[in-house]
Parts: sequence; structure tokens; C-alpha cells
Amino acid sequence: MTFDNIDLFPVTADINADDRLTLGGCDATALVAEFGSPLLVFDEESIRNMCRQFADEFSARYSDTKVVYASKAFINAAIAKLVAEEDLGLDVVSGGELAVAKAADVPLDGVYFHGNNKTPDELAFAVDSGIGRIVIDSFYELQALNDIARDRGVTQDVMVRLSPNVDPHTHAHTTTGTLDSKFGFAIETGDAANAIRQTLAASNLDLVGVHFHLGSPIFELEPYSIAIDTVLTFIAPFKDEGLNLREFSPGGGFAIGYVREEPPPRIADYAEVIVNAVKARCSDLGLGQPRLIIEPGRSIVGRSGVALYTVGAIKDIPSVRKYVSLDGGMGDNIRPVLYGSRYEAVVANRMSDPPQEVVTLAGKYCESGDVLIHDIELPVLETGDIIAIPASGAYVPSMASNYNLNPRPAIVMVSDGSARLIRRRESYADLMAMDVM
Ligand SMILES: *Cc1c(COP(=O)(O)O)cnc(C)c1O
Repeated sequence: MTFDNIDLFPVTADINADDRLTLGGCDATALVAEFGSPLLVFDEESIRNMCRQFADEFSARYSDTKVVYASKAFINAAIAKLVAEEDLGLDVVSGGELAVAKAADVPLDGVYFHGNNKTPDELAFAVDSGIGRIVIDSFYELQALNDIARDRGVTQDVMVRLSPNVDPHTHAHTTTGTLDSKFGFAIETGDAANAIRQTLAASNLDLVGVHFHLGSPIFELEPYSIAIDTVLTFIAPFKDEGLNLREFSPGGGFAIGYVREEPPPRIADYAEVIVNAVKARCSDLGLGQPRLIIEPGRSIVGRSGVALYTVGAIKDIPSVRKYVSLDGGMGDNIRPVLYGSRYEAVVANRMSDPPQEVVTLAGKYCESGDVLIHDIELPVLETGDIIAIPASGAYVPSMASNYNLNPRPAIVMVSDGSARLIRRRESYADLMAMDVM
């Protein structure tokens, strides 16, 4: 069966004979009954499917491609294991993410450490863990990392993050490769050239390549080809100064569908544009064929995740607005408040009821701005209905907070009709576990 917005849901989404949404063969309403509400559901097949799409679409066009999952989109032990099983590497941006990767036995030579202000402790932890690559983002880090590696008598493989000054036309908060950005060494200020030279000269660092990341989500293809041209053209002359470009990473930022009107490009479209630009420039500039590092985060887990909420209070303000309040909100999904992100929703327990009125789906947090969806057309909702919001896998649980001391939701992974808990619901005791009396 099919329904509106099915393309935003996991690939296994369907409707059963009871007119209810199913995910990975599991009845979403029954999952809430079993695991509680709100609940985040990940569909295993959708995650594996995306890992394979990236590997296949890029490798078919450029055989020496390594796909690296940007784990800040969401990581825990189960996800780390799953992604490693699919042979993806892992991007981390903190000691915490690295600790999860280690605990899940992810091969550490495939782990890349990003971030604009890694602390000395984090750098030492990474070097001592035998991490594959550290992506240098500042002169401070360059110096600190070289000192740490020298103290230990090791040589650390590194990349340098460059800022190509290309605007990918996404939200200002998620634009990272423009001149006015805290990330990376800007090419036009001369910082990038200095960083390359200093890294080449550093006693205990081996510069294996360069990286840039433009932002996210990027619905356009052209920013990638412009930035690839800019960065490769900039980097080529450093061959004469000893740079051997073994890896090239144009980052991540691949879009997913959140709302019907804004479909994302296909992975094949991104692959075509990126690979064509890399091949053309590398051959023009005599750069050989560096390994291509692709770093999807959002696109690996985003569509796989569906957030389930239960309808509680309903407040109708005649000729103004009808507020339908859910049992979650900005604590489990900050994106609407942080970025103005938009979502679609369906009523998981009666999927074929037609839309009848426009409502606002509010959260339960003590902020007037805590609204998950403004003005959405839905069937007339009743207390107890189950609302399913698709495209909730990326930057949703990873950004969750304990505001108002609401316990964070449980997370289940569904596959072939069965569901397993991959993170239990927080308890009140958990909320107090770090307090010292
Ligand atoms: C966040 C990030 C990514 C992934 O971005 P997505 O939009 O989730 O694909 C890739 N590379 C770097 C360096 C990042 O910081």
C-alpha cells in the first residue's frame, strides 16, 4: 500500500490491515504500546540501503572511494556497529564520539577526527587510540597535535581543513565553508597556504590530504563542483613543496526529504557531479588519483528514523489556531526551534483518514517556541492518537537535551517484523545520576 509522503519514510514503511503505519514490518502503534511514548524508531534496512547506495554510486564512478559516516548525525554502539559492518569509516567530532567508536570495536584506522576546537586531551586520546586521521582546523591545533605526537614518538596522519568560500545556500547556522566561518583555513586570507606549509614542515605530522565541508543540507549540486575546483586548483602547486595528495575529502552535506515540496537530489546525482569535478581537475592539474573520502551523516540515518508521539492536550482558539500538544518536543527534536526546520506528519493509528483541518503540533516543553510543526493539515486529532514524524533520524536524538528534565525517549531498531531496543528510555534516576548531594 502507499500513502502521501511515503517517500519521506523508511523504505520499509507500509500500512497494515488495521490501517496503521508499519515500519520494518512492525506496527508503529504497537511499538508505542510496548516501548512507551515518545519513541524513536530506526529502520535497519534503510540505514544499510543508504550505506550501500553511497558505496555503490561513488565506487562505480571512482573506484578508490571510501565512505565515512559522519557520526554526529547520530551514534550509539548499535549504529556504530551497523555502519562498520557495512564497511564505512567513521567521522567523529569529540572524544565522546571516539569513545563510542572504540567501545563498539570500530576499526580505528578508518576514523577521522574533525572539529574546530579539539582539546589537547581529545587530541591525546585520539593519538593514543591509533586514530586514522586527524583533520587539522587551526594553527593552535597544528602545534598542539605535533607536540603530542612528538612526545609519544609517533607520526600522526593528518588532513587539513580548507575553507573554499563557497555558499551552499542552506541555513546560516549550518553553512560552514564560507569566509566568515569558524571552520577551516581560509584560502583567500593566506591561512590555508600557511597551514599546508607548516603541516608539511611539522616533525611528527604526515599530511595525507585536504578536506572541506560546505554545510548541510545541500540541495544544490553546483556548490560541490565549484568548491572542488577551487580547492584542487589551490592545492596543486604545493606538489612542488612536497605535498603528496593521497586523499581528498569534499565532506558531506547530502540532503534528505523532510517535506514533500523539497525532494533531495539522488545520491547518484551527487556522485556524478563530485566525481566528474574531481576527475577533471585532478587530471588537468596532474594530481594523480587521490582516494576520495565521502562523509555523509544526515543522509545515512535521516530517513531511517521515525519519531512517534502521543497526542495529549488539544486547545482550540477559535479563528486563531488549534494547538495539538504532543508528549515530546524541543527536548527530543530541537531542529524546528534551532533552524526553523519543517516536517510532515501522519496519524499512525488511522492512516487513511483524510486531512480535515489545519493544526499546530506543539511540544510539551515550557517555551512558546516549542512547536514541532506549524500549520499542518491532518485528520481531526483526538487525545491518544499516535503521530509519526518521518525524517527524524539525523540530528534529532544526537541533539536531544534534558530541558525540563523530561527523560529522553527510548530508541528501537526494527527489521523483518521484530524490534530491539538500542537505547532504553531515560529514567528519573538517570536524570539525577550525576548529581552530588
Ligand atoms: C557534519 C559533517 C559532515 C556530515 O554532514 P551531513 O550533512 O550530516 O552529511 C561531514 N563532514 C564534516 C566535517 C562534518 O562536520
